[in-house]
Amino acid sequence: MPVKVKWFGHSAFAVSIGGKVFLVDPWLKNPKSPVKDLNLGFEPDYIIVTHDHGDHIGDTIELLKKYPRAKAVAIFEIASKIAEELGDPNRVVDGNIGGPIRLGGGYFVVLTTATHSSITGTPTGAVFGREGETVYHAGDTGLTSDMRLIGELYKPVAALLPIGGHYTMGPREAAKAAELIKPKYAIPMHYGTFPVLWGDPEEFKSEVARLAPEVKVVILKPGEEVELE
Ligand SMILES: [Zn+2]
Repeated sequence: MPVKVKWFGHSAFAVSIGGKVFLVDPWLKNPKSPVKDLNLGFEPDYIIVTHDHGDHIGDTIELLKKYPRAKAVAIFEIASKIAEELGDPNRVVDGNIGGPIRLGGGYFVVLTTATHSSITGTPTGAVFGREGETVYHAGDTGLTSDMRLIGELYKPVAALLPIGGHYTMGPREAAKAAELIKPKYAIPMHYGTFPVLWGDPEEFKSEVARLAPEVKVVILKPGEEVELE
């Protein structure tokens, strides 16, 4: 079954793996997003929050209220804060970096290191999905050699990598990340939302072609969905 990846601009994605839908960093009201309300047309199962800067935690609380089946997955401190805000500890799954979190039905999330900052707790990335069908969302991060281990261990079908520069990796660093991770597909994110996020996806693509020609770069438009086999 193909893994379906839909980009809402910035770092916000919906990823469908088998019957489960993962929303990641759902700042759905970002300036580039085609979604002006939160009517998604589908029910998310999990909302992964990499860190609690506004451009990542985004519309998580509102989405959890709107979609009662969904659970937030985040590092302990952020998950606790979300649970407190909702007044319901059953709406979150808390974890910590490096510990595989079993979600049932063979699905799992592993929070990964991200060299960044956050208001609460520690920022992360996330590997999620099920055996043979995993996706790595790097969150906001600089380049780290940990990415090689993520590639070796979880063999992600796709790596969603920030390329905007300034606060995260730029195109050059993200291309090196793609070389370390060796996913089948690399999808750039966290660029172009504001002028300061200067990274150019075409530059990323040509750098990946040079460093890791086996990795296919897929540049999405906000609102676009792609099926990855
Ligand atoms: Zn960010």
